[in-house]
Formats: sequence, structure tokens, C-alpha cells
Amino acid sequence: MKLAFFGAEGKAGSAIVARLAAAGHEVRGIELGDEPNVEGCEAAVDFTTPEAAPANVRAALDQGVSCVVGTTGWDPAELGALAGEKGLRLFVAPNFSIGAVLMMRFAREASAHFPRAEIVELHNEAKKDAPSGTAKATGELIGGDPAIHSVRLPGLVAHQEVIFGGEGQLLTIRHDTTGRESFADGVLLALERLGDLPPGLTLGLDSLL
Ligand code: NAP
Repeated sequence: MKLAFFGAEGKAGSAIVARLAAAGHEVRGIELGDEPNVEGCEAAVDFTTPEAAPANVRAALDQGVSCVVGTTGWDPAELGALAGEKGLRLFVAPNFSIGAVLMMRFAREASAHFPRAEIVELHNEAKKDAPSGTAKATGELIGGDPAIHSVRLPGLVAHQEVIFGGEGQLLTIRHDTTGRESFADGVLLALERLGDLPPGLTLGLDSLL
């Protein structure tokens, strides 16, 4: 596919773009300060910042191009409605790593059997939003308004533990992202399925697995 990629030179963007190119996609990188010109592209991908993503998505939709967004920390409801009105797709996932999505599924299953849980999410210090979109989504999935602890340190990539406590036992479900190229599998899957999705907003990789 011919793709526009907002944030192609970022930490996540550069790892994903390399795998998209290796998979045969033609990628036009759009950086901060560039015109958000997505003309001629079949889809746009955004891994930028919570401040930049809404304007990038709006620009792409206005040019008739559907979007796949990994940027977290913003509310896509309004632009999802705009996409629907235009007959376009907006796919947003707080985590494009398939292992992380499975961790969330397993946590949901465990939550039926434990009275209490807390979430610890650990990310590189460069991550601007806290708590992470994945931690918030996990909390909503397991219910009970669990406490979320956010750690930001150099050396970390993206990690999450869901700790369940019961009488005389603990269960910890943990996922570690050790390389940002892991996000490319989910982006490739979303791009492959984008055209089959209903117009408007689709949230989460879980809906594609
Ligand atoms: P990063 O290294 O700071 O990358 C962000 C990139 O976006 C930078 O290259 C930045 O350029 C660029 N940018 C900023 N404003 C822009 C604009 N208006 N138009 C185009 N490009 C713009 O951050 P990151 O670690 O890659 O993460 C980026 C986002 O993706 C974050 O929200 C993060 O939470 C999210 N993320 C999501 C997943 C997922 O699976 N859903 C995975 C990884 C990351 P400058 O450096 O010039 O400002």
C-alpha cells in the first residue's frame, strides 16, 4: 500500500516504518513542520504526540484518507464520528503488540476469580502521558477501578504487570515489550483489515484478533 506516516522518525515510528517497508509498503514520512499532505495515499498512520495526533488525523480525513493511530493520551470519539460521516475508517489502538493484547485478555479472565487487582505500567522516561493507554484500557476491562502505578525510567521500553491478590495467593500477569519493532505486527494487521472495518471509529487490536 501507499502510506503516509506521521512521526516516521520517532522511536516507535522508525522501528515500524522499517518493517512496513520490508513488507512491501511504500511509506511517505511526515514530520513536525511538514505539510500534512496525504494525497494519493491509501491510509495514514500516526505515532506522534497527544497534541499532534488529532490535527494529523483531521487533515488525513479531510483528504479522504482512513487512519491507523497508535498515539495515546487523546480522545478519538469526535474524529471517529467525522470519519463515519465521510465513510472512512479511524482505527485506534492503545497497544499494537499482540502479546500485550493477550496479556489484557488473560487479565480479564483472571479478574473473575480475584477480589482485588492493581496495575503497574513501566515505560521509557520519554513517554509523555501517564497512565498509559494500555493500563487504562486494562483497568476498564477488569473492572473495579484498580489503582494504576506509572514508572518512567531510562532503560525501559514498554512493560505492564497486572497483580491479582486473593486470600493466601497472588497472580501476576506480565508482558514485556523489548523492542519497538513488536508494534509493527499489529500495524500490519490493522492496515490489512482497515478496508473491511465499518466506517467510523474502531478501538483496540483485540477487535481484529
Ligand atoms: P517520539 O520518539 O517522541 O516520536 C514522536 C514523533 O512524532 C517524533 O518524531 C516527533 O517529531 C513527531 N511529531 C511530533 N509532532 C508531529 C506532527 N505534528 N506531525 C508529524 N510528526 C510529529 O515518541 P514515540 O515513543 O515514538 O511515541 C509516539 C506516540 O506513540 C506516543 O503517544 C506513544 O505513547 C505512542 N505509542 C503507541 C504504541 C502503541 O502500540 N499504540 C507503541 C509505541 C508508542 P519531533 O521529534 O521533531 O518532535
